[in-house]
Amino acid sequence: MEYINKISFINYLSCPTLGWMAKRSMIPKLNGFNNELLMLEGKNIHKLSLQLSLDAVNARKLTVNDSIVYTKELILNPDVKVICDASFAVEGYSARVDILQRLEDGLWHLLEVKSGSKYKAKYINDMSFISMVLAKLGVNLSKIAILHLSKDYRIGMSISQLFEESDCTEKVKLKSQEFLALSDKAFKDIESENMPQPCLKRKCKNCPVFNVCMGKDVQNHIFDLPGLSILTTDKLVTLGADTIDQIPPDFELTEMQKIVKDCVLTNTTYISKNLKTELKNIKPPFYYLDFESISAIMPLYKDIAPHTQLLTQFSIDRTDEAGNILNHYEYIADHTKNCRREIAEKLIEYLGINGSIITYANFERIAIHKLAKLFPDLSINLKDIAERNVDIELIVRKNYYDINFHGRSSIKKILPVLIPEMDYTSLAIRDGGDAAAVFVFMAMGLFDAEKIEETKKNLLKYCAQDTLAMVKIHQFLINAANCQ
Ligand code: SF4
Repeated sequence: MEYINKISFINYLSCPTLGWMAKRSMIPKLNGFNNELLMLEGKNIHKLSLQLSLDAVNARKLTVNDSIVYTKELILNPDVKVICDASFAVEGYSARVDILQRLEDGLWHLLEVKSGSKYKAKYINDMSFISMVLAKLGVNLSKIAILHLSKDYRIGMSISQLFEESDCTEKVKLKSQEFLALSDKAFKDIESENMPQPCLKRKCKNCPVFNVCMGKDVQNHIFDLPGLSILTTDKLVTLGADTIDQIPPDFELTEMQKIVKDCVLTNTTYISKNLKTELKNIKPPFYYLDFESISAIMPLYKDIAPHTQLLTQFSIDRTDEAGNILNHYEYIADHTKNCRREIAEKLIEYLGINGSIITYANFERIAIHKLAKLFPDLSINLKDIAERNVDIELIVRKNYYDINFHGRSSIKKILPVLIPEMDYTSLAIRDGGDAAAVFVFMAMGLFDAEKIEETKKNLLKYCAQDTLAMVKIHQFLINAANCQ
């Protein structure tokens, strides 16, 4: 029998249809380097947590059923004080527990290992599901806690200094009572032959199966409206307006939402009267700047905390007029060391002292301010650079809308609409998440010299593509503004 696991149950809480689909593995699996890294880092943290209790017995076997049988044996053996990867099943549900510690009088202490660096409310649902399964089996938990990473951990410290415990017994016990009350109905719904009827709600917007469920074959969905608040979504859902053309004429929308609605109803593109003025405020020479960064769970370098974001790479195109590239500068860090200082110095060297520095969104400006804080002797130059920054995404968001943007303004969404001949499909690395992941693989020592050389070339190509995309978008906007 296939049990209902934590993922199916938690998805059921957000939407019964989604829980039903999760049980049948109908939710598309995430793939790509970024996902590979997440899984690898999760496994590594789990392995490290096992070193905390040297007398622990691991209950994991090849199959879930074998693990369940072995866990039962270990629970009944009073000499076993700590069980790792314990598996339980009852009434069609199964749960796996990271660490169970035996206390006196038949009580247990449950510990779940998380790779985050602080307690997060979303962990409570996970733990409450486990607690619900254990409660059904009569396993008595006196303490329930999360082991997360300590921000104070640095390379060279002991494993016990890597983890911090956050007690969440009360919250989990309360929530698991709710889950217990819901469990019979959830079981019936999830195990039913018929999929629970999907219905539009705000959670659909970020649902992994939206395109094959409520968004299937729907043109101009209300989710194409930018900045749609929870309240407005709820009102539209109540009115039965699934698509933009179904929104009543007197329904209150923001200015940008009205523009998007108008574009959809009239099948036109919006170009604001302010676009020309905003573009004139960007002063030549134009520098187009793009950063890449990593945020490894475990520190890769000395004196760095877990989850610290580190810049690893940048690309700059310099033009005197939009589209006319005079210089291209690029930098990629030595993966064996923290290169923040060198990055700061190179930025100062390449970005000169005048002209606008164009970025897509504000990540680069924030990162430059962080460098300025980190290196006081460079702070005046770095702050000057940040002052010259122009966020071209903001200009797009306020002044230009094509219905094929579908309410989005990220570079990956709008580039194929504005510059169809430019895409990322021929590149080995196609998004920032993957760029970060392969850099971390190099820093972890997982690649040989040949693979490192190839990876660095691919990373440079990817970053250069993002920079070139900005050059082209800027040029496109100038042409659009001039054609008005
Ligand atoms: S799209 Fe909406 S109704 Fe469909 S599974 Fe997702 S949340 Fe549920």
